[in-house]
Amino acid sequence: MLNEQPCKIIGPLNEQDSYETAINENPSNAPTASPGGRNKRGVAIHSKFWASHRTLKIAFLNPPSSTHREAAIKAIKVWQPSINLKLDFVNGTEGDIRITMEPPLNYSAIGTDAMLRGPDENTMNIGTDPEHPGFEATVLHEFGHALGMQHEHQHPKADIPWNKPAVYDFYLSAYQWSKEEVDHNLFKLLEDKLTRTTVYDPTSIMHYPISNELTTGDWSVQKNTILSQNDRRLMRKIYPKQ
Ligand SMILES: [Zn+2]
Repeated sequence: MLNEQPCKIIGPLNEQDSYETAINENPSNAPTASPGGRNKRGVAIHSKFWASHRTLKIAFLNPPSSTHREAAIKAIKVWQPSINLKLDFVNGTEGDIRITMEPPLNYSAIGTDAMLRGPDENTMNIGTDPEHPGFEATVLHEFGHALGMQHEHQHPKADIPWNKPAVYDFYLSAYQWSKEEVDHNLFKLLEDKLTRTTVYDPTSIMHYPISNELTTGDWSVQKNTILSQNDRRLMRKIYPKQ
């Protein structure tokens, strides 16, 4: 079977819109008083979590089959015990989260950035085939983004001993990613405000698999296939049941 495509986040076209949408939805997305960092355009760094206890309508745009759709729903529901959001899988195409399932790419908007997409646009694509052994893990990962989670390998405390030239070569030859895409999706560390966690968790579902050839010394991360304790802990903190 073909290797899965690494996930790419859909960034907002406009950081100011992203900021206003996120804070309007959930004021706790606002930057903390301490200078939590600003991006290169000077917009304060904000998180993108949904309002607690809200209903998230989840729609599928042109799912290839009902079996395919049901397989995705089953995986998404694995998150339910750790969040206080109500997940409403609707039949039409109107949803807060709009999922397409077209091979081969896997991508998603982060949390409230989904509201910046046009009503006919998807907010997530699951390109991995449901027959692929990595399907469930991919859905868990993409839906983690939909809940507002970032990539764990970019955690502010991640201290991955990258072999950067090897990483550039590999991502270029395997996926035709430019150096800039690799920098943006692998090497760039995120602000504390975005991750809300204190520990870096290499067992997170939000971590890319990293083979030993892409690091110096003996360092690798397997493809994580289940939610880690910290994944669930973070979501319980953001979306507490009580
Ligand atoms: Zn991802």
